[in-house]
Amino acid sequence: METFLPAPLLRPAAWVQVLVDAPARERTYTYRLADGMTAAGGDVVCVPFGSQLVGGIVLDCLDQLPAGLDPGRLKTVESVVGTGLFAAGFWPLLVRVADYYLVPLARVLETALPPGILSRARRRVRLVADAAPMAQWGLSAAAKSAFDFLRSQAHADFSWRFCVQRLSGGASSLRELQARGLIESYYVFGETARPRTQQFVVLAGANADLCGRSAAVVQCLRRLGGEVSVEQLLAEARTTRALLQKLHAGGHVRIYERQILRLAAPTASADAPKPLTDAQKRVLERLQGATPGPVLLEGVTGSGKTEVYLQAIAPVLARGESALVLVPEIGLTPQLTDRFAARFGARVRVYHSALSEGERFDCWRQMLTGEAQVVVGTRSAVFAPLPKLGLIVLDEEHDGSYKQDRPAPCYHARTVALWRGELAGCPVLLGSATPDLESFDRATAGRYLHLEMPERVAGRPLPAVEVVDMREELHRGNFSPFSATLQRAVAQMQAAGRQGILFINRRGYSTFVLCRNCGETLRCPHCAVSLTYHRLEAGDYLRCHYCNYGAPQPRACPHCTSPNLRYFGAGTQRIAAQLGEQFPTLRVLRFDRDTTARKDAHRQILEQFGRGEADILVGTQMLTKGLDLPQVTLVGILAADGLLNLPDFRASERAFQLLTQVAGRAGRGSEPGRVILQTYAPEHPVVAAASTHDFRRYAAAELTQRQALGYPPFVQLVALQLSAAEQDSVIEAAEALARRLDGSADFEGRLLGPAPCTVERVAGRYRWQLLIKNLNGEAGRASLRALLAQFMPCAGVTVAVDVDPLRL
Ligand code: ADP
Ligand code: ZN
Ligand code: ZN
Repeated sequence: METFLPAPLLRPAAWVQVLVDAPARERTYTYRLADGMTAAGGDVVCVPFGSQLVGGIVLDCLDQLPAGLDPGRLKTVESVVGTGLFAAGFWPLLVRVADYYLVPLARVLETALPPGILSRARRRVRLVADAAPMAQWGLSAAAKSAFDFLRSQAHADFSWRFCVQRLSGGASSLRELQARGLIESYYVFGETARPRTQQFVVLAGANADLCGRSAAVVQCLRRLGGEVSVEQLLAEARTTRALLQKLHAGGHVRIYERQILRLAAPTASADAPKPLTDAQKRVLERLQGATPGPVLLEGVTGSGKTEVYLQAIAPVLARGESALVLVPEIGLTPQLTDRFAARFGARVRVYHSALSEGERFDCWRQMLTGEAQVVVGTRSAVFAPLPKLGLIVLDEEHDGSYKQDRPAPCYHARTVALWRGELAGCPVLLGSATPDLESFDRATAGRYLHLEMPERVAGRPLPAVEVVDMREELHRGNFSPFSATLQRAVAQMQAAGRQGILFINRRGYSTFVLCRNCGETLRCPHCAVSLTYHRLEAGDYLRCHYCNYGAPQPRACPHCTSPNLRYFGAGTQRIAAQLGEQFPTLRVLRFDRDTTARKDAHRQILEQFGRGEADILVGTQMLTKGLDLPQVTLVGILAADGLLNLPDFRASERAFQLLTQVAGRAGRGSEPGRVILQTYAPEHPVVAAASTHDFRRYAAAELTQRQALGYPPFVQLVALQLSAAEQDSVIEAAEALARRLDGSADFEGRLLGPAPCTVERVAGRYRWQLLIKNLNGEAGRASLRALLAQFMPCAGVTVAVDVDPLRL
C-alpha cells in the first residue's frame, strides 16, 4: 500500500518527485533538479526514463532526499516544459481528494487530468547549423553520422524519440550535437487543434515481426517522423485504410483522432430564457441573495429545474466568470446539453471521458484560457480547470454515477464539487426531486441553503400512481408480466395516440437459465453469478453482466446434457418481444445498454421516439435520468420488487429514487400522466411513499432508521475490499487486516466483517470486504492511513479502499 503525504509545494527544492508517463506499475520517481532550475507541483517536466525522454508531472518538491535513495544514482530533470496547467485553487483540491480518499496523489492526478497531457509534452529536435565543415567540430563518428542523416532529411524538425531510435549513438549523439550548437532541442506542448476532425497515426508497440506491405507502411511512418496524419501516410505509403486498421488492431500503430469539439446541436436554434414561474423566480432570488455555499434545490419532477440552472448561470457569465454543470451521464441527457448549447452558444463545452484524448486536451486548454466558459460534463468534469468559477450545478445530485467505483480514487463528484465551491468561494447548486439522504439531512439541519419547488410548471399535476398487486393477477390466472390494468392502459394510450414508457430493471432476454433435469443454473465461469440470456439475429448467446464473458447458448445442459433448459426472469428484450406479441400494432423501442452501445445511439433512439416513430419505450434505469418527453402519458413499472430486496442498507433509498424518477417521466406535457406500478409487495413503505410522491415522509422514516442502526449519514463508512485469485489467500489477508483494525483503539468494535462481497467472485478474482464505521472523522482516516501503510498482505492480494462507499 503506497502512502503519499504531500508536502508544501512551492519552495525551492533540490529534488522532485515526478509522476512519469511510462507504462510501469509504480510510476513515481525521484529526480534531481539542476542548479538554478526551479519547479513547482503540477509542472510538466521532461525527464530521462530508460533510454528515452518522457513527460512527467511534478508531484512534490523535496529538499531532503527520502531515506534509502542514493543521490549519485538519481537522474536530472531535462527541463520544465509547462507550468500553469491548473487553475488557481486546483492543486489544493487534488491534495484534499488524495487525503480524504486515502489514495496517492498520483492516482488523483491521473483521474483529474486529460489523458493526453503527458504524452503531449514531447521533445523535438531542430537542426540549426548547416553544411559547415565537420572536421572542425571534432565530433565523434556517431554524432557526425547522426548529423549527416538529419541534414539529408527535408524536415525542419524531428521528434526526439525518432532521433533516439534512428540515429547512430542515439541520445548521446544528440547531446553532443546540442552541446556544439548544431541542433536545438525544443518542446512542443499542446499543439493547436486542427480546424476539423483529423485522424493521426503514431508508431506503437514492437514492429520487428512485420513483413511485406505492413513492414513497408511502418517503415514509411517511421521515415515521416513516427506520427503523421492518416491522409499523409496513405498518400506517401500508397496503402489502404484497411491495412492501417489492421496494424492498429495488431497494436503496431495507433490511430487517434483530433478534432474541434463538436457540440451536438450546432443547428439548434437559439434558446431564449423562459418567463419564470413564481416558484422558479423565488428560487433564483434566494440563490442570488445568499452567501456562497451549498444549496439544495428540492424540486419535484417537471418543476423546471433546468430553467433555474440556465438562468442562474446567465449572470455568472455576464460577470465574466465561468460555470460548471455536472450531469450523471452525458449520453442519457442529450436534451440537457443541447439546451445549454442553445442558450449559451459557443462558450459551452461538453467534457466527459468518452471524448477522444485530443478532444479532452483541447477542451482542457480552452477552459484554462477562458474560451470555454460553461462546461457541461460527467463525474470527471468536476476537475475541469475553469478559472474564476462562479457557480457549480449538480443535476440529479442523488445519482449514483457521481461516485467512482474503481479505479482509485473512489471519489464522489458531489463531495469534490462542494470542496471546489468552498475553495472558489462560489455556490454549489444541488438539484433533485429525490435528494440524497445525506444532502437532505444537511439541508434540513441548516448546513445548506434549502430551496423547494413542490409543484410542476404551469399547474401540471404530478401523475397519479396506481399500485397493482401482482399476487392477485396470478390468482386471476394472468401469468403475463402485464397486469390487466396495464394492458387496458396501453390500449387506451395507443388509441389516444399518446406515448408510454415501460420500466424493467434488467436488460437481456432472461436473467437466468435453469436446467429442469438437474436443477443447475448456467453460471459465468469467472464470476459467482448466473448468465443472462440474450437473443440476437446472429444467434442466441449468454452473457455475464459483471465481466462481460459471453458464450453461445448451449443446446443442452453442460452439467447433465439434458436438452430441457428453461428461461426465467424477464429482461427488456423479452418484455419488448411479449409486448409486440400482445399488441401487434404497437411500435416498440428498446432503451438499454445493449441498444445504446453505438456512439450517439441514445440520441438517435430518443429523437426517433420524440418524433413519434414509436409508441412505447421499454428500458432500464437509463429511463430515469431526467428525460423530458412531453408526449409520454403512461409509465408502467413492471417489477418494483427486484429493487426492494437487495442486500444493501441503501436499497430502499435507491428504490424510492428510481420509482419516483420513472414515475416522473409521465405527464410532463399538457396531458396529465398515469403511472402503473406493479409489485408483489404493495404494502412496502417505499412503494407507498413513491406512489404518493411523498419524499419527505420517506426521508424522515429512513433517516430515523439509519440513525438507530448507525449508518450514513450518521457515521462514516469505509470499505476495504481485498481480492485475489486464490480464495484462501484473500480470506487469510482479510482476517489478518481485521485483527489489526480491531487491535487499534480507533476502530475497536466498529468493524463489520470480514465477509465475502455480495458477488464473491468477479472476473476470476475472489473478493472479501471489511466495513469500518469511522466516528472520528479526519483523525480516524489518518490512523487508517497509517495502519494500511504498514499492512503487507500476502502476494497476489490487493486492497482497495473506498471511503463513503455507495454500494456494498
Ligand atoms: P425538471 O428537471 O425539474 O424535471 P424540466 O427542467 O425538465 O424539469 O422542466 C419540465 C418541463 O417544463 C420542460 O418541458 C420545460 O421546458 C418546461 N418549463 C420549465 N420552466 C418553464 C417555464 N418557466 N415556463 C414554461 N415551461 C417551462
Ligand atoms: Zn442439467
Ligand atoms: Zn463474469
